[in-house]
Amino acid sequence: MINSARTKGRMRIALALSLVIALVPPFVHGLVSYRYQMRAIEFLADMQAARVSKYIYAHEAMWQYHKVRLTEIVEFQVPRSVPIRQRIYDAEGETLLEVGEPTGRPSLATSAPIIVAGTEIGRLEVIFSVASEALEILLSALFFMLLGILIYFGRSIPVRKLDEAILELETARNALEHRSGQLNEAQHLGKIGDWSYQFDKEALWWSDEIYHLLGYDPEAFATTRDAVMELYADDGASRLLAVQAEVIRHSVVRSIDLKVRRGDGDIGYFAITTKLRTDSEGRKTGIYGTIQDITDRKAAEEQLEILAFHDPLTGLANRTLFHRRIDDVLCRCERTGESGALLLLDLDRFKDVNDTLGHSVGDALLVKVAHLLARTLGNEHFVARLGGDEFAILLEGVSGQEECEHIAVEIVAVVSGMTVLDRVEVTVGTSIGIAIIVDHGTTSTDLLRNADLALYGAKEEGRGRYKIFEPGMDEAVQEKVALALDLRNALANDEGLSVHYQPQVDLTTGRVIGYEALARWNHPVRGNVPPSLFVPIAESSHLICDLGYWVLRQAALQAKEWHDAGAAAPLVAVNVSAAQIWNTDLVNDVSSVLAETGLPPELLCLELTESLLADQKESRVRTVLKSLKQCGVSLALDDFGTGYSSLGYLTQLPFDKLKIDRIFIDGAPDSRRAIELLRGIIALGRGLGMTTIAEGAEKQQEIALLKELGCDQVQGFVYARPAPATEAIAFALRLDADAMAVKINSQQTAMASSA
Ligand code: C2E
Ligand code: CA
Ligand code: CA
Repeated sequence: MINSARTKGRMRIALALSLVIALVPPFVHGLVSYRYQMRAIEFLADMQAARVSKYIYAHEAMWQYHKVRLTEIVEFQVPRSVPIRQRIYDAEGETLLEVGEPTGRPSLATSAPIIVAGTEIGRLEVIFSVASEALEILLSALFFMLLGILIYFGRSIPVRKLDEAILELETARNALEHRSGQLNEAQHLGKIGDWSYQFDKEALWWSDEIYHLLGYDPEAFATTRDAVMELYADDGASRLLAVQAEVIRHSVVRSIDLKVRRGDGDIGYFAITTKLRTDSEGRKTGIYGTIQDITDRKAAEEQLEILAFHDPLTGLANRTLFHRRIDDVLCRCERTGESGALLLLDLDRFKDVNDTLGHSVGDALLVKVAHLLARTLGNEHFVARLGGDEFAILLEGVSGQEECEHIAVEIVAVVSGMTVLDRVEVTVGTSIGIAIIVDHGTTSTDLLRNADLALYGAKEEGRGRYKIFEPGMDEAVQEKVALALDLRNALANDEGLSVHYQPQVDLTTGRVIGYEALARWNHPVRGNVPPSLFVPIAESSHLICDLGYWVLRQAALQAKEWHDAGAAAPLVAVNVSAAQIWNTDLVNDVSSVLAETGLPPELLCLELTESLLADQKESRVRTVLKSLKQCGVSLALDDFGTGYSSLGYLTQLPFDKLKIDRIFIDGAPDSRRAIELLRGIIALGRGLGMTTIAEGAEKQQEIALLKELGCDQVQGFVYARPAPATEAIAFALRLDADAMAVKINSQQTAMASSA
């Protein structure tokens, strides 16, 4: 279907042409024929009128009646083939003579004057039949009309065909134009230019776009081989030539990214594509291709690479880059036999900093540590941040294990200590796990796992230290991981866990004043697991908070039961882990347990270890302890003497009781130095207004010594081991009974002596 304006125009032309052909020739024929006939009858009329005039002039008298003669005159020399009628009428219009047949229609008529002696005395009219002419005209009109119709259809069909073809051509041309426009535009947008090189002429041609892209003036810059090769930075020219040689040899298409010097001196990145050109006979005639400015893309790629391989916070390499690097180092060490090491670092108590001081301080700390590591290790070694507070270091070209240890010690020293961040004092430390390349692994996975195991070991040993991987660590850690899982289940299902109570005895009265609640775990397969094993596992797997809460609640329920039963001394001491202060709302937990169980707060003592204070000089500790005191519970400082807390700090905290660690008691009676130390500690407690209690007394001599030194209370195997509640209370009753017996005995002795 063609409905374009052009087609319509063409159709109209065809129609007009047909109409012209159909109408004009018959019209012209008619006109010419009419003129000719008219002229003929006018001539005839003139000629007949002249002859009649001549005759009348000669026979002036009564000429009107010379009808025969006049008829002869007018009939003379008149063609017979066409019907003609002639009439002579006088000046009044009265017909005097009529000659010839009636002509019928169509006819032409004309008249000429009959003039005698200058006077018109009448007229001669000639009527001429034009029937045959009319027929002729009609026929020719029909003929031409037919011709017009034929031409119309005859023309319009080819016109349509032609038009269709033209239209197709035009569409194709438009598309081509559009496409080449698009191509130009795309080339411009895509910063692509064309070039070609002809072997025979040794001529290199550049498109305008290339000049534009490279910033050279087409008038001033001649694309000679030397000039162009000069533009490639570094070894670009030789690399390009090598690629093009390959293209020519193997007729392949190749692309290469090269640095090219622009007109303004800047270096840009360009992708140069080369193809081979052959003639119709397959002869290699030249090469051609494109140049694309990919400077922006390269910059983006570089940016992406930075993003993909670096930690945005510290700018150190990230885990991905680290893995690549570790593979490189492994390869090199295996090839050259050199030593290397993988160090994994973990910041001690980083989570606490983050939780209590906020993420911005946490982030600042990470940046600071990254800075310290980079400065300490310099460019020789590779430092990465693997995520969170985990850093990794690759030591290369070290002389051996000793040097690795030396570096580890240095790192611990540099990172540990107090730092001021955002006007807050933060104390950090780091633990390091070391795997030696290739002794402790020949794949990055093995090395990382072993360094991780060593790190775990370092943290277990008390943080702030390094540990080198040892075979067997693996099993130990796996066992711990399995135990952690079992402990989680035990807590979740309240299965296998229980609380034992160890009496605390007042040295002056000899009576039980309370009990320390100690967690016990009866593992379904392993049987009793000692707290020295499962408590550290609970600490490192974050189960300690749940465990602590569980023991707290059980102990409170038990103490309330004793209280309700009227027991004399149902005070319970419950151990609280540092994690409970940092990661839970301890105050709320304690008060809700007290509310739930109805235990009077003064019957609950919380034991906190000294290490809690050594870690953070934080207001949080003070706030929590103060709030706990406000709840009415008492606080004991556990394991005193084993931590690092400063005495000055101790005095600021609201502790009621000082628990002297077992190491000061064990063997004390036999050592003067130990006795003096113990004396000092007890005096210190007293001086601070605290009750002193000695842990782990196993011998009667120790009790005697402690009594002598003025210690208030004792908790130890010498009295009783931790035991289930019923046994513990039975022991207390027995002790009470003993004390009572002693008292009665002494009273009786006194009475006897006084009597
Ligand atoms: P701790 O808080 O110092 O508890 C005292 C530990 O000394 C107990 O060990 C106790 O059985 C032991 N002991 C008492 N008297 C003597 C003695 O005369 N000689 C010897 N050799 N040991 C004695 P246990 O029950 O094995 O607990 C070990 C540690 O586990 C506890 O030390 C405490 O730090 C932790 N722990 C136990 N239960 C819990 C708990 O519920 N929460 C928390 N956070 N820690 C707990
Ligand atoms: Ca304790
Ligand atoms: Ca203790």
